[in-house]
Amino acid sequence: MLFVVPTPIGNLGDLTLRAREVLESADVIAAEDTRHSGILMQHHGIGRPLVSFHEHNEAMRTAELLERLLAGATVALITDAGTPSISDPGVRLVRACAEAGLAYTVLPGPCAVITALVGSGLDTDAFYFGGFLPVKSGQRQAEIAAAVSRNATSIFYESPHRLLKSLATLAEAAPARLVCVARELTKKFEEYRRGQPAALVAHYMAHPPKGEICLLVEGADAAARRAKLAARQAAPA
Ligand code: SAM
Repeated sequence: MLFVVPTPIGNLGDLTLRAREVLESADVIAAEDTRHSGILMQHHGIGRPLVSFHEHNEAMRTAELLERLLAGATVALITDAGTPSISDPGVRLVRACAEAGLAYTVLPGPCAVITALVGSGLDTDAFYFGGFLPVKSGQRQAEIAAAVSRNATSIFYESPHRLLKSLATLAEAAPARLVCVARELTKKFEEYRRGQPAALVAHYMAHPPKGEICLLVEGADAAARRAKLAARQAAPA
């Protein structure tokens, strides 16, 4: 059977009891970077065999792992951090199991997008996850324009090198919009920095961003509600 196992996004203590049990009893653990995951395994005293499973060998490894699963093996799939398949390898193996009628299960656990959404304080009833913001500036601008007009919180994975550019684009497209930079979640320098994009530009100009980042944009409907409320509160009684 295949077990899809989320692993910590920073704090090594965030491995669930069940995830640990599954990893301890797996015949093989398919890991994005076996050296990186070795640190987690060592931390938790897990000594099962690891094989690499990353974007460059996913097709070949999927076929191999499928054979092992068909022969009755227990396979655990992990990535460097968080939930496999979410901006990470994994979907190909899950799809192959589903199509072959092989048993699989997904353990709930750490995932940066969900952690960032909850910590942002932005609306959680409807949200859009766009993965990594595109590197090409035209595509990036289009993605940000779509986020600004969407009636749902938008969340993106973002690189520290491009954060200022994205915030500047937001400052131009929607200066009054509330945005949140969720950085280094579950780690020592965890930060949820909320504000209007220009204020965040000023902050990160003075304190260049480092580490792992999620960028969240308030939905158009929530921004309109907030503006209406502020206008009502400002009006004389
Ligand atoms: N599969 C992972 C998950 O479930 O979150 C995501 C993997 S993706 C390759 C890595 C990106 O996720 C990072 O570049 C960053 O944007 C985001 N991320 C991962 N860990 C994070 C953390 N501790 N704090 C903020 N963002 C994080």
